[in-house]
Amino acid sequence: MIDSATIAENLAAVADRIGRAARHVGRDPQAITLVAVSKTQPAAAIRAAYAAGQRDFGENYVQEWQHKAAEVADLTDLRWHVLGHVQRNKVKLVIGKVALLHGVDDMLGLDEMARHAWQAKVQQDVLLQVNLAQEATKRGCTEADADLFVEVLARSPGLRLRGLMLLPPFDLDAEAVRPWFARMCALRDRLQAAFAGVPTLPSAGHWWLSMGMSHDFEAAIEHGATHVRVGTAIFGPRA
Ligand SMILES: *Cc1c(COP(=O)(O)O)cnc(C)c1O
Repeated sequence: MIDSATIAENLAAVADRIGRAARHVGRDPQAITLVAVSKTQPAAAIRAAYAAGQRDFGENYVQEWQHKAAEVADLTDLRWHVLGHVQRNKVKLVIGKVALLHGVDDMLGLDEMARHAWQAKVQQDVLLQVNLAQEATKRGCTEADADLFVEVLARSPGLRLRGLMLLPPFDLDAEAVRPWFARMCALRDRLQAAFAGVPTLPSAGHWWLSMGMSHDFEAAIEHGATHVRVGTAIFGPRA
């Protein structure tokens, strides 16, 4: 059973926490996009959040996303975000159909995305995923390779790089995650300065930073996150 009132209350509480975290560091809360991560949740939960005003939704698995997107196709101003790696054989299913891909993480995948975007004559917004801790279990380019990826993305006509995405080593203690957020913010600042003036990239000061989940999004906002990806704190625990 979907409890619409609880989802609406949770959304309001998360918005409140985003506002407080932003103001705490002198940032405008409006500059932060809340992506409601609806993986494993039924379409009814998405409708409940939508009814409460939520428009940005994130899914991890292309097939699951396709099924749910079809179920809520009547919500035409809903914006989909695909989080993390998209298998190469699934790339053509998402290009041009989602607002933002939060997980460009390898050159072959990037190539495939660029080819499909070019063929479909669309400009797909993407974020480059960086695996700062170089965890074997996570995707993402290394910090050292980020410049090269940005150069290639700047030259990929169908892809529009908007910024960076981080999935840091998991720790329930947000304070333990904070150094990764700080390091990611520094990397974002370095890249946007290094590539300032490149017309196919966002101008300096406008690079997005997708980081922060239910247990640590306030810390992420304090370190510059422009997109927080929150599931559990909105929809409750996943089955
Ligand atoms: C599931 C997921 C989230 C949301 O996690 P919660 O802890 O439920 O907020 C955020 N980002 C990614 C990449 C995820 O896979």
